[in-house]
Amino acid sequence: MPELPEVETTRRGLEPLLVGRRIRTAVVRDRRLRLPVPRRLPELVAGKTVRALARRGKYLLADCGTGTLIVHLGMSGRLWVVRDGAAPAAHDHFDLVMDDGTVVRLRDPRRFGLVLWQAGEALSHRLLKGIGPEPLSAEFDGAALHAATRGRSAPIKHVLMDSRAVAGVGNIYASEALFRAGIRPGAAAGRLTRARCALLAEKVRETLEVAIVAGGSSLRDYVSSDGLAGNYQSQFLVYDRAGEPCRRCGTPIKGIRQGQRSTYYCPKCQKA
Ligand SMILES: [Zn+2]
Repeated sequence: MPELPEVETTRRGLEPLLVGRRIRTAVVRDRRLRLPVPRRLPELVAGKTVRALARRGKYLLADCGTGTLIVHLGMSGRLWVVRDGAAPAAHDHFDLVMDDGTVVRLRDPRRFGLVLWQAGEALSHRLLKGIGPEPLSAEFDGAALHAATRGRSAPIKHVLMDSRAVAGVGNIYASEALFRAGIRPGAAAGRLTRARCALLAEKVRETLEVAIVAGGSSLRDYVSSDGLAGNYQSQFLVYDRAGEPCRRCGTPIKGIRQGQRSTYYCPKCQKA
């Protein structure tokens, strides 16, 4: 599943190709994504110039002046760039065609992705309204995390993955950040001290930044927008490493089920 670093890598790859350029048209081959792609989308975007390409959580936001094209990659989506005329394959549900012949193509086999249009202020869209602070912004710090965890008996990993507490941190990077901070994924969120919240907020940021620099992970079929697979996966500290030695202390990494998700931690380096 594309996580925040993959989405940010995609954003950075697409930004120079889209911003300041005019959209010729959009091609919708299959409207049946998580929500239906608006029927009028091609006419809404045709002739518009992309003013900025932003990201909120795992949503990409192409500001077109009168409104915003909102794209989410869902479980299996990826965006890549092809030249005008390149034949679409199965699952290539959507193209954004720029006036210079650049085509941004969405391939999404499981169709949990989204392609939507929001007139006016993008952040007023119902999917974006309740999202918490961006983990890479100054808004997300120890104080914010401490406030978000008070009164919560849920495991800290669940809170990190709750987009109301912090935007766009998924299973992989929550696990990795908790290792870096020395905190067990099952620790009760509401019992973390101010100091541990501050350390964890710092490690969330650090984990995401390292992954973005590495180009995002290359789990499953993810390929970054220039077609190159990311190479963060080989650097995972705990994620998907059950039974392998901890990179810090050598203790075998534990793999457990937490809620519906796989969780990995070092029983020696991480404390409840
Ligand atoms: Zn360890």
